[in-house]
Amino acid sequence: MHYKYFLPELEYSFDALNPYIDTKIMELHYTKHHQTYIDNLNAALEHHPELQQYSLFELIRDFKTLPEDCRETIRNNGGGHLNHSMFWKFMQPNKSGQIPLPQGKLLEDINKYFGTFQDFQQQFNNAAKQVFGSGWAWLCVDNFGKLVVSKTSNQDNPISQGFMPILGLDVWEHAYYLQYFNKRVDYIQAWWYLVNWDHVSENYQEIKE
Ligand code: MN
Repeated sequence: MHYKYFLPELEYSFDALNPYIDTKIMELHYTKHHQTYIDNLNAALEHHPELQQYSLFELIRDFKTLPEDCRETIRNNGGGHLNHSMFWKFMQPNKSGQIPLPQGKLLEDINKYFGTFQDFQQQFNNAAKQVFGSGWAWLCVDNFGKLVVSKTSNQDNPISQGFMPILGLDVWEHAYYLQYFNKRVDYIQAWWYLVNWDHVSENYQEIKE
């Protein structure tokens, strides 16, 4: 039984991602936005005991098969819970002042599929910029095992489209507005300092196995 859902532990403090993402954003994003997705998801599942046996991953992957009266609620709020649970782990504090780079097999495959790391970064940045309104940019493994950049609207997750995400960036205004205002591009640039490539590599390895 997976229901009910709780806020996952954050592995760093709210002020740990300064100066790239400031304390107030982290606190609100985690304690208010993420918690609200969880509360709404639990409320929807409370009325659907038959769905409580499914994992969050299964609910979101197969959201199109959900009963109509809870489909959009679970798609949006279950997606919100899944995406944010992933997002906190995609990041880690960085005091080095350097943008961290992927290593090993992941770097090799990024070079193989995108040309160079900078080419990949540019594609990812473009996807993040092009999200109209609210959504996410992703680095995924597609059905053929290839690395691809994708984007989703609202709280959709690439697993609903058959892609396995290994890295993603929240470009909802709530993720940056208090610090970066309308300058999403500045937020995207700053976020690269925080990427936890060891974790992304683990995600990649698990999918390839
Ligand atoms: Mn968010």
